[in-house]
Amino acid sequence: MVMVLGLVFTVAQPMQTHAVSELDKVNQELKKLQQAMKSAEKKQRQAQATIKEAKADKERTAAEINDIMAKINNVNKEMMTTSQQIDQTEDKLRDAATQLEEATQRVESRSQLLDARLRLMYTNGFVSYLDVLLDSTSFSDFLDRVDMLKSVVGQDKDILADNKRDKALVIEKKKQVEQDLKEVKFLYVKMDQTKKELDSKEKQKEVMVASLTKQIEESEEISEDQEKQLMAFAKERARLIEKQKSFKSKYKGGKLGMPLKSPFRLSSGFGPRVHPVTGVKGKMHTGLDMAAPKGTPIYAAEAGIVIVAQSVSGYGNCVIINHGNGLWTLYGHIRDGGIKVDKGQEVKKGQKIAEVGSTGQSTGNHLHFEVRVNEVPKNPVGYLNL
Ligand SMILES: [Zn+2]
Repeated sequence: MVMVLGLVFTVAQPMQTHAVSELDKVNQELKKLQQAMKSAEKKQRQAQATIKEAKADKERTAAEINDIMAKINNVNKEMMTTSQQIDQTEDKLRDAATQLEEATQRVESRSQLLDARLRLMYTNGFVSYLDVLLDSTSFSDFLDRVDMLKSVVGQDKDILADNKRDKALVIEKKKQVEQDLKEVKFLYVKMDQTKKELDSKEKQKEVMVASLTKQIEESEEISEDQEKQLMAFAKERARLIEKQKSFKSKYKGGKLGMPLKSPFRLSSGFGPRVHPVTGVKGKMHTGLDMAAPKGTPIYAAEAGIVIVAQSVSGYGNCVIINHGNGLWTLYGHIRDGGIKVDKGQEVKKGQKIAEVGSTGQSTGNHLHFEVRVNEVPKNPVGYLNL
């Protein structure tokens, strides 16, 4: 049987060569187009993801810029305050310098006065002091005058000591103000540095925003480009489908190939089922039921184009092949995962297309095989070498 089928196939081949190769070409082009469309869609999705990411980045960066600008504002305010502190401290330092100068002068003049008195008393000035003493009217007056002179010198000494203490305090105070000034100035320098850092950070972020904006624009351009590509693909695909539809398959009549090549049992024939007891005619059976083990290979009965390759209610997993000239063959109850062809695919006579199963309205593993002419079911027996 297989040999005979092989012979039929070989004889039929030369007649079909031209048409089949043309159909193959159309199918290959379709497949290529589908792949190209898929890759174009993927690229577009990627571009859109890029845009989304870049937009989020841009928003984030803009928020960061706002943050930095707020920080710069704060630093500016702090710098103004610190600058005022510097001015105030410098004023204080100038005051302290004036005070120090005054204290120094006081010490100087008091010291000079004391020197003068002492010189007057103990050296050249002794005569004048003696004069003062000699002018005394009595001995007790003389003693009073001596005491008075001593006391004047003593007061001068005390005042000088006080002045020296004052001067030391002013020096201490000036030192403190100088330290304060140093600290405030250091603070200012630090703030200035912070501000410069923030400025440069802000500039960096602005550059980033600009580059993100550019990236978004470019990505959007790519998307438009790919959309155009997609439309071109779709148009080309529609054209090819039209070409495929108008293609005339080679069925010119004659026997079909057996859909099962291994042993099977005809479990139900074509036509209205008859009740086994009453003989009453029941529901019409539109095909042949061929019982065979699950997984038994199913072969295309004739060359053609697969028009259905999916689950159909009642039929379960189902394949329909269009052989041209209005002739279709149908294969039902295929096991899950047992469909081996795609919709739109061209198949050769005797090519494995599926495997026997029991999906849909079925109680056991079998192939439900139909032959239809212009969609009307015909008895397959007349088409098969049974
Ligand atoms: Zn059936």
